[in-house]
Amino acid sequence: MNVSPTIVWFREDFRLADNQALHEAVRHAQPLICLVILDDAQPTGSAAQWWLDGAIHALAADLRTKGGDLLVLRGPARRVMEQVVSATGAGAVFWNRRYDPQGRETDTAIKASLQAQGITVRSFAGALLHEPWTVRTQSGSPYKIFTAFWRAACTVPVQAFLRPAPEQMVFAEPGPALEALRLAPGQYGLLPTTPDWAGGLRETWVPGEAEARARLADFCRHDQVDYAQTRDFPAKESTSGLSPFLRFGHVSPARVWEEAQNSPSSEKFLTELGWRDFAWSLLFETPDLAQRNLRPEFDAMPWRADPKGLAAWQRGQTGYPLVDAGMRELWHTGIMHNRVRMVVASFLVKHLLIDWREGERWFADTLVDYDPASNPMNWQWGAGTGVDAAPYFRIMNPILQSQKFDPQGVYIRRWVPEIAHLSDKAIHTPWETGCRGYAAPIVEHTLARTRALAAWKAL
Ligand SMILES: Cc1cc2nc3c(=O)[nH]c(=O)nc-3n(C[C@H](O)[C@H](O)[C@H](O)COP(=O)(O)OP(=O)(O)OC[C@H]3O[C@@H](n4cnc5c(N)ncnc54)[C@H](O)[C@@H]3O)c2cc1C
Repeated sequence: MNVSPTIVWFREDFRLADNQALHEAVRHAQPLICLVILDDAQPTGSAAQWWLDGAIHALAADLRTKGGDLLVLRGPARRVMEQVVSATGAGAVFWNRRYDPQGRETDTAIKASLQAQGITVRSFAGALLHEPWTVRTQSGSPYKIFTAFWRAACTVPVQAFLRPAPEQMVFAEPGPALEALRLAPGQYGLLPTTPDWAGGLRETWVPGEAEARARLADFCRHDQVDYAQTRDFPAKESTSGLSPFLRFGHVSPARVWEEAQNSPSSEKFLTELGWRDFAWSLLFETPDLAQRNLRPEFDAMPWRADPKGLAAWQRGQTGYPLVDAGMRELWHTGIMHNRVRMVVASFLVKHLLIDWREGERWFADTLVDYDPASNPMNWQWGAGTGVDAAPYFRIMNPILQSQKFDPQGVYIRRWVPEIAHLSDKAIHTPWETGCRGYAAPIVEHTLARTRALAAWKAL
């Protein structure tokens, strides 16, 4: 009997169900070493690190119910993997693929080095509905326009690996050398300490597979019916809230696709999942998506250096209630409603004329659902610098957006309590009532609009 263990390397797939790497290892290659490597070279924002800590705990707990454990080690992934292989005598390493430039580079190097030592490496799909290279134009090039991409994607079968968690799993002992290096819970170094700013995240989220599946079931039962009508209204909380769970792979997009099929709003909802695939396909072709304007003419844009304006935006002190509500929601909970993300992004880039990359970086650090594809794609879309973007001259009016999408000010009252006493009408323009205790607008809307359009026209 072959007793050399197989390493299952968990990265963005913190689940036992619908996890092809794990299932194939259980079927063909037990006993298992279930491994997480904390590699500082793999960029993660502070809020996402908080989530990662929870994701590791949840997966470790789930593995314990199967009689096993999760081995958590820190260090450069390639060096750590070689240590684990050599200490355990593993004959194979299985993982689910990731698609960010840094991750791909690391995986390619590790695969080559392991294979050169005669170790089997098998990788599987599972993070997207369609892997980036599977949706292509007839000439084999990537799509640049979402509608064309999605039309084509819908003709390609979804990569669906749908299985319950394996029932019987056999685990190998890592051995004393690795036990000495193993990080115990509390030692991952992922949580904020001085100060501990994560109270709002803890109140809002429970990372893990069980919570992901419960949210998905709940969304399919209740909210999805009205999703197309209500998804733009932040106070209604009618979207799925699944983005961080998808990001960390507590649930696979294929599972979401499968369960969300049958409701009047499913087409709209599933198209949103399509945007996620589109973002990853863009990043796959454009590794510097977060650094470079996809429309090079914007390289000459006279972005303003405005540290005070940037700080006011980050802290939710711009004097525009919907913008401030969104930025405070983000700071407190690590998430922001999609409509409000669009409004705050437009405000930064157009009203303040600050480079979209500043906003992208702030979101990367503060969002629990931050991913290196969706975040820059959406920022470039909002800034007008992306290929399939809203044109720059379409400047969102933060007052009209507020009146339209939070008409009674329910969302604003939740996050900007100092103006909660104002009437439903006045709450969108508090400066008109002479309201004290709340910031005056840091920029006047019409002037800001004129300035942005002038800068853009001069390009
Ligand atoms: C400036 C800006 C930055 C953003 N940064 C991120 C990010 O870092 N990570 C992220 O996951 N989403 C990002 N989004 C997209 C979107 O805001 C979130 O995915 C959404 O708000 C998550 O809430 P939900 O899960 O309730 O979404 P639902 O409305 O329930 O949508 C279901 C799923 O579809 C996907 N999705 C929906 N809209 C988009 C979109 N526009 N682009 C890509 N995927 C989408 C998400 O995975 C989401 O969970 C950003 C949007 C903007 C405008």
